[in-house]
Amino acid sequence: MSRPSRLVLLGTPVARSLSPTFQNAALAIAGLPLRYEALETPPSALDGVLAQLALEGAAGNVTIPHKGAVHDRCSVLTPTAARAGAVNTFWFDDGTLHGDNTDVGGFRLAVDELLAGEPLPPRVILLGAGGAAAAVCVAAEQWGAESVAVVARSRGAAHRLAARFPGLVTIVDSVEHLAASGSSPRSRRTTAAPLVVNATPLGAADYDPLPLDLALLPASSAVLDLVYRAGETSFVRGARQAGHRAADGLTMLLEQGALAFERWLGFPPDRQAMRSSVSR
Ligand code: NAP
Repeated sequence: MSRPSRLVLLGTPVARSLSPTFQNAALAIAGLPLRYEALETPPSALDGVLAQLALEGAAGNVTIPHKGAVHDRCSVLTPTAARAGAVNTFWFDDGTLHGDNTDVGGFRLAVDELLAGEPLPPRVILLGAGGAAAAVCVAAEQWGAESVAVVARSRGAAHRLAARFPGLVTIVDSVEHLAASGSSPRSRRTTAAPLVVNATPLGAADYDPLPLDLALLPASSAVLDLVYRAGETSFVRGARQAGHRAADGLTMLLEQGALAFERWLGFPPDRQAMRSSVSR
């Protein structure tokens, strides 16, 4: 693959995305004459935009709501993107659309950082059943988790996730059943504290309710909120106050971007420069 002519983020809304800030910081440090720009792309415009980007030899990222649609349009997928059923990183090779999912690697690094050397959790409680939730399931499958208990408002999305990860994903009917979650035959072997992941957008806006009543968190949970905003999210703050370890989505966001940068350009970015550019 030759060096991309330009780098873009496709999605809607993208105006408040941090990706241009940290990608452009890394591009500047690398001395590359390339810019990363957010392109507001409604679903009706996606095919036209991709056709134009193919002509230009561009590459980029994909965010809500296009991760599934771009997955379906890729001619070549990495095994990780194929398993997730979602693409967040794309590029063209001789006009052919390729896709990867670096959310999986980004999530895994965020878990490692949160757990600080402790063993990876066999039990995951997952709030939400969209694209980010699928990336969480791929990562949990890769580390050999025993169960992922999904709490989602849309039964259809939860069932699709369970069908994609049979034997791993179970659907929790209501949050009150969380204490019993992970009670599938596979997970009965462990009583280890779970990793609780918020993969809904709840917490991104000022007056959002919490994605889960904090009183329902199992003792000694590790809480990873995939939402990122300046300052702590209310879920992270509440979980910490209740004595749980908790982190927001910043590490995952930066790492999925760093892995994408390496895909496009063939060498790793300066991760410290990326982090400094968005430091609070
Ligand atoms: P998505 O595909 O649209 O899925 C969102 C999920 O959240 C769906 O299950 C959706 O349910 C549920 N949901 C939406 N609004 C809700 C509400 N008010 N109450 C309860 N559930 C609700 O989005 P995604 O790509 O998975 O992203 C989810 C979140 O993760 C976003 O905030 C995104 O910014 C964040 N994220 C962060 C990173 C990172 O690097 N830190 C990476 C990826 C995603 P329905 O199907 O019923 O709508």
